Amino acid sequence: MLVDLHMHSTCSDGRYTPEQLVNTCYEKGIKVMALTDHDNLSGITPAMEAAALLPEPIKVLRGVEISTEKYHESIHIVGMHIDFDNLRLQSKLREMRRRRKTRILKMVEKLVAMGYDIDIDLLNPTNRTIGRPHIAKLLVAAGYFEDSLECFDKLLKRGAPAYVPQPKLSPEEAISLIHGAGGIAILAHPSEINDENVPETLIKECNFDGMEVWHPSANSPELIQKWLELAKQYNLMTSGGSDFHGIKGSRYPEELGLWKVQYEDVQDVINWKL
Ligand code: AMP
Ligand code: ZN
Ligand code: FE
Ligand code: FE
Repeated sequence: MLVDLHMHSTCSDGRYTPEQLVNTCYEKGIKVMALTDHDNLSGITPAMEAAALLPEPIKVLRGVEISTEKYHESIHIVGMHIDFDNLRLQSKLREMRRRRKTRILKMVEKLVAMGYDIDIDLLNPTNRTIGRPHIAKLLVAAGYFEDSLECFDKLLKRGAPAYVPQPKLSPEEAISLIHGAGGIAILAHPSEINDENVPETLIKECNFDGMEVWHPSANSPELIQKWLELAKQYNLMTSGGSDFHGIKGSRYPEELGLWKVQYEDVQDVINWKL
């Protein structure tokens, strides 16, 4: 049975609305999905409502992906089964979205100073989580770059000319927010962390409940085996998903259903109850 526990909607930097994601999962035979927008919970209710209307309902897990930083690395943490009405989590995420907007406007200022012609009104940050992919999209649409990968590489990635660091939570703060909202905390895509020793250090230091083993960035059987063994060693539940954004020329799968995760591999996360 196919499942997918990591994807993004228009509430953050995904192309499709929560409803469209649910309908596409249904068409592709994905029976359990988690909506995991960056720093934003507002897609969860629409996704659950859309799922309830399907001829055969699919299960929607209440997720979020929180951006944190430690050891000069970007550490993403997926919260799953969260109570999306939790006020502490809601207000912290709102603050993070505000800080993201300030940061993105600074990046736009840099780009304009470099001679790029971008219309910041097109970023339309109302109520969605704004991020570098939105800038990439504008620059690709304006013809400056072939695709968003090239744009990140030349301008937007950490250390590149238009990069501005973003104030972030620590992993410990994010995990405590997730636990406070009744959910479980999963270390997302450990393969994207540059220093290969950092995932284990984090697991030792922080109170993670799970780790994302099956993710497109773990692109060899050896890497998957490595994360699987680490999860086993520290008694972590294993999770997996496509990180689908629906953006062509990005580093994630271009369609739902291409990155296959099996129910059996992630069932502890799916069936977890407080
Ligand atoms: P931000 O939230 O503004 O820091 O942007 C992070 C998002 O940008 C990630 O979740 C990815 O979707 C995307 N991203 C980050 N680094 C890259 C990269 N090198 N190439 C393409 N997309 C990236
Ligand atoms: Zn994203
Ligand atoms: Fe991520
Ligand atoms: Fe993601």
